[in-house]
Amino acid sequence: MPILRSAFIALSKNRTVRRFSERSSMGRKMSSRFVAGLELEDAIRVAEAVNQQGMLVTLDSLGESVSTEAEAQKAAEIYHQLLDQIAARKLKANISVKLTQMGLELFPALAEDIAESLAKHAAATNNFLRIDMEDSSLTQTTLNIVRRIHALPELRGAIGIVIQAYLYRSQADIEQLVAEGIRVRLCKGAYKEPAEVAFPSKADVDKNYVLLSGMLLDSPLYHGLATHDEAMITAAKAFASQHKIDPSRFEFQMLYGVRRDLQRKLIHDGYNVRVYIPFGREWYPYFMRRLAERPANVLFLAKNFFRN
Ligand SMILES: Cc1cc2nc3c(=O)[nH]c(=O)nc-3n(C[C@H](O)[C@H](O)[C@H](O)COP(=O)(O)OP(=O)(O)OC[C@H]3O[C@@H](n4cnc5c(N)ncnc54)[C@H](O)[C@@H]3O)c2cc1C
Repeated sequence: MPILRSAFIALSKNRTVRRFSERSSMGRKMSSRFVAGLELEDAIRVAEAVNQQGMLVTLDSLGESVSTEAEAQKAAEIYHQLLDQIAARKLKANISVKLTQMGLELFPALAEDIAESLAKHAAATNNFLRIDMEDSSLTQTTLNIVRRIHALPELRGAIGIVIQAYLYRSQADIEQLVAEGIRVRLCKGAYKEPAEVAFPSKADVDKNYVLLSGMLLDSPLYHGLATHDEAMITAAKAFASQHKIDPSRFEFQMLYGVRRDLQRKLIHDGYNVRVYIPFGREWYPYFMRRLAERPANVLFLAKNFFRN
């Protein structure tokens, strides 16, 4: 399985396969299990359906590193449209943004300006901007940007961040973020990281996830626990019940198309669930990362594909 995981991560970066897949109708059909569609309207339609099932939503316009300022501005514009659509249609949804899509690697000042203007738009529409976390070369910069924006009095509470349990530094980061009043989404981490910065074994990542989720649940802020791992969910539920933390004070988060059975069960049991809904033409790297997480998905997708 680790070989397959590395193979999918390598494939997620292969430009030729990407170009071919994004243009082929078979590729789009396969990816539809995890991606709402190509256009903003597809995402809104799926978000409405997910809301109707009693779940909250976060919307992600797919795309990673950009190479020009115009591309970054174009990516930002889609998020501004999303915030307007969410408000107009009264959706229970917020937005998730990657700073590399806003130009972080080539034009860091622009990425920071875009994040600030999205946070302002979110605050003005009573919404919330979540900055996704990317690979560890960007962790410190991402934290700095979110902390600076959150420190602006009018934007307090309008922006939050993601922390990855596989990084050794995450406990210290959570202590600082919670002290500053910044809301966190905790996930295990999706990138390939060296042993100098991240726990190499799944058991250690899981142990750290349980520790960090306890720290978040214990804080006075509303945080998100992003995972499909039943052991992580059981541990969080047990911690909340032992510490008399009401289920309304936190949410579980899962990806669109993953463990729908578990999403429904949590809602049924009275927990808040937010579904992360990605959409857009640049679905290929996202889709490959989902296959890397669970290579068995390839068989599952292939079976459904041929059945349909
Ligand atoms: C809402 C949300 C936001 C995220 N944001 C970020 C982010 O900003 N930065 C980042 O690095 N990572 C992010 N991730 C990804 C995360 O880091 C993990 O890579 C991913 O969630 C898989 O970890 P897991 O906790 O589900 O546990 P795992 O140990 O990977 O999986 C546990 C079990 O969950 C199920 N499962 C997990 N993944 C899949 C799948 N793709 N298909 C089917 N079943 C699956 C399987 O049953 C598996 O046995 C996010 C995840 C979610 C849910």
